[in-house]
Amino acid sequence: MSSHPVYGLFIDGEWIPTDSTMTVLDKFKGTTAAEIAVAGREHVDRAVDRAAAALKRPFPPYERYRVLAKVAELLQEKREAFALTLAAEVGKPIRESRGEVDRAVQTILVSAEEAKRIRGEGVPVEAAAGSENRMAFTIRVPVGVIAAITPFNVPLNLVCHKVCPAIAAGNSVVLKPSEVTPSVALMLAELFREAGLPNGRLNVVTGDGPAIGSWLLDNPQVRMFSFTGSVRVGQSIRERAGIRKVALELGNNSATIVHRDCDLDLAAEMIAWKSFNNSGQVCISVQRVYVHEDVRDAFVRKLADRAAKLVVGDPYEERTDIGPMISEKEAQRVEAWVNEAIAEGAELVLGGKRDGAFYTPTILTRVKPSMKVCSREVFGPVVSIDTYTEEDEVIAKVNDSEYGLQAGLFTNDLRFAMKAAREIEVGGLIVNDASSYRVDHMPYGGVKNSGTGKEGPAYAIKEMTEEKLIVLNL
Ligand code: NAD
Repeated sequence: MSSHPVYGLFIDGEWIPTDSTMTVLDKFKGTTAAEIAVAGREHVDRAVDRAAAALKRPFPPYERYRVLAKVAELLQEKREAFALTLAAEVGKPIRESRGEVDRAVQTILVSAEEAKRIRGEGVPVEAAAGSENRMAFTIRVPVGVIAAITPFNVPLNLVCHKVCPAIAAGNSVVLKPSEVTPSVALMLAELFREAGLPNGRLNVVTGDGPAIGSWLLDNPQVRMFSFTGSVRVGQSIRERAGIRKVALELGNNSATIVHRDCDLDLAAEMIAWKSFNNSGQVCISVQRVYVHEDVRDAFVRKLADRAAKLVVGDPYEERTDIGPMISEKEAQRVEAWVNEAIAEGAELVLGGKRDGAFYTPTILTRVKPSMKVCSREVFGPVVSIDTYTEEDEVIAKVNDSEYGLQAGLFTNDLRFAMKAAREIEVGGLIVNDASSYRVDHMPYGGVKNSGTGKEGPAYAIKEMTEEKLIVLNL
């Protein structure tokens, strides 16, 4: 008997084994964490068919609420098992893994509540001449079958951010989780089954990303694609989706400004954690810091002091702050980018060391905007510090990016904060915290190449429903 779990595909409420399987690794130990099914085209088409068929059976909002609330309760009970799976498959330190489970519980609960609040609005058609006897209102109806495709880095909560609002809004879902961190999505599907989700409302297909993505895109019964991941894949989905709905949560090279009037200890504390947690593999991880020239030296010292205290090591240990990156290849890429920056004149203040898939928290100063560590998404534990003297100058530097997900600004100057709120091109500006602040019910999504559409259950439900107009002629 194998000591690791073996998962089939989850289609129409049943677990389906496949001939072909793939191994999921424990990112720290290098051992097998799980064996997952590899779906073929016939499985993906069947999942979409069953999802479409489920839409024909009633599933009223109160029932959606009940099922989601039950899933939240079950997940809370299994918190440690989910956290250990995250530690194994992502390499995410156990304390942070528990934090992801806690956030997922909130995402599910908020989605449950939102299932009861889906509403349209009155439309005063009677205000038009000739329509005096008419009355109108809108209702929000489900989009239909939604394909949800998710990345490796936050594999439970980001799955919940798609699946739970989709179900709350009355849709059916075919989920394709990341092939390197799939198990928590499959464990979640089992909780949905236990909670009594009607068959076909959630289907999970695992295997090769490009192949499954392509089969989902080929299937006209899929009415919406909700994707979180890289810009490259997001763009390809957008190109092939045609006139169907597409929501994209993509990359970022997040900036945070440290102004001369701010609480430098607070800024250093927040930035030290939010540049390096999950080894920087967070889409709103702090990557570019712009510090006012007057406080540069003090800030860099405080940041380096704090970052140096972060404990890098075994993700299963309670004291660990930073685990391995998702693969050695990714750590090598980050190492190459940092070395290239140093060769081009950047100064290494801290870190810059690789050991297998581990890369130590790294701080660079004297960087140039053209360096990859500034212009591209590093998605690793590296923060680059540049300086400024003028407000307009720093706003231009922040905006000099193909991305625009979130930015942070440390200042107590309300006038500067308001100017930044108006002029910084992002989906969210966080004042007196770093770019990576997020709670799960807030609207979350980017501009420019960071994507289109918002997540956060109430906002995702809007994306995942159509507004339908009803006119009554009395
Ligand atoms: P990725 O784009 O490589 O993969 C994401 C998902 O897409 C995976 O499930 C993968 O199997 C699938 N996929 C791969 N090729 C596909 C194709 N051709 N068609 C359809 N699906 C395909 O991303 P990743 O490496 O897993 O995650 C890292 C990226 O995700 C980073 O760029 C990061 O910024 C982004 N991200 C964004 C957010 C956000 O909310 N904006 C959150 C987390 C991660």
